[in-house]
Amino acid sequence: MTNDPLKPATIAAQAAGATDGETAGVVPGIHLSTTYLRDPDYELMRADNKYGRDENDTVRQAEEVLRQLEGAAATLLFPTGMAAVAAVFRALPSGARVILQSGIYWGTIKWVRDFCARRGIILEEVDAADATALAAACRSSADLVWVETPSNPWLKVVDIAAAAGVAHKAGAILVVDATAATPILTRPLDLGADIVMHSASKAINGHTDVLAGVLSCRDVASSIWQAIAMDRHDAGAIIGPFEAWLLLRGVRTLPLRVERMCANALAVAEFLEGHALVEAVLYPGLPSNAGHAIASRQMSGGYGSLLSVLIKGDRARALDVVGRLRLFHRATSLGGVESLVEHRHTIEPHTGIPETLLRLSVGIEDAGDLIADLAQALDVH
Ligand SMILES: *Cc1c(COP(=O)(O)O)cnc(C)c1O
Repeated sequence: MTNDPLKPATIAAQAAGATDGETAGVVPGIHLSTTYLRDPDYELMRADNKYGRDENDTVRQAEEVLRQLEGAAATLLFPTGMAAVAAVFRALPSGARVILQSGIYWGTIKWVRDFCARRGIILEEVDAADATALAAACRSSADLVWVETPSNPWLKVVDIAAAAGVAHKAGAILVVDATAATPILTRPLDLGADIVMHSASKAINGHTDVLAGVLSCRDVASSIWQAIAMDRHDAGAIIGPFEAWLLLRGVRTLPLRVERMCANALAVAEFLEGHALVEAVLYPGLPSNAGHAIASRQMSGGYGSLLSVLIKGDRARALDVVGRLRLFHRATSLGGVESLVEHRHTIEPHTGIPETLLRLSVGIEDAGDLIADLAQALDVH
């Protein structure tokens, strides 16, 4: 035996060694208690368990699996992805300067704009996939740089190592929303990021039945991480034990699901790119994509399950294609085992999303079935 760390497939399948100590069950139980016992001398029977607000063994087990997959020093779960986003920004002092990648997940942009306006935080939005533009924004000192790669729904790729370099020179920490990549394809902390965030509601859980968010850090002692951890404890933005247990269950198959979803997404992207009624396909796995070279460097094992496609024609034509799909569910979200399609312009009409853009989240179904479904939907009837 060497001391090499275990590989992701092993960490995930065995839930980082979590079993049930009380019953000897292979699968750990769900710990629902909100409070913990003291002995006759009034000492806590377990020093790390006092009250359930953020002291819960089921939550800790789920966090430990994600910590190991991420190669992180520490990991904290939150009740949603947005609660994890908010936890980072709430840790900033008033008057801070923040650089936010433009054109990313709309929920993040909207909340960050509102929050920064309320809190007197200077916000600059920049296309971080353009390394020159990001470097220019980082010429003045800053506190936080926030990027999302691959981005949703444009599938732009940010060079994490380069972003970390310019962010650190500006005195800022780099936070990466790697939801579309998952910890299986990209480990941003290894590339120089300070904190990585995921909406665990997406591929990490993977079964479209849990809302959760996660933050992992490289340096537990950093002031921002200390502030985030204290705020979660004091303000109580915690995940419930049942959700944490479902995550622990879902994540066991994450490497396997990601592998199949990436293969399917690439097959779907290649089919669509060659289709006469398709204007363009946005997917970092395609050599034609502007981010392909960077994605090939910083993603290993695939390019993710998310892609966008621009349909030739107009809004009505794009909606017609959506309406004809039989296997792709018409629904928002991404990263689940079942494929989804979304007409993003309908959801966020004022943010510059083309009316012909369809966002696909490719699941683990048979790739041939998915392609046949798209082929019949694209067919002019
Ligand atoms: C879904 C998503 C979020 C928000 O996560 P929730 O769990 O829905 O709150 C943040 N970032 C990205 C990239 C997402 O796809």
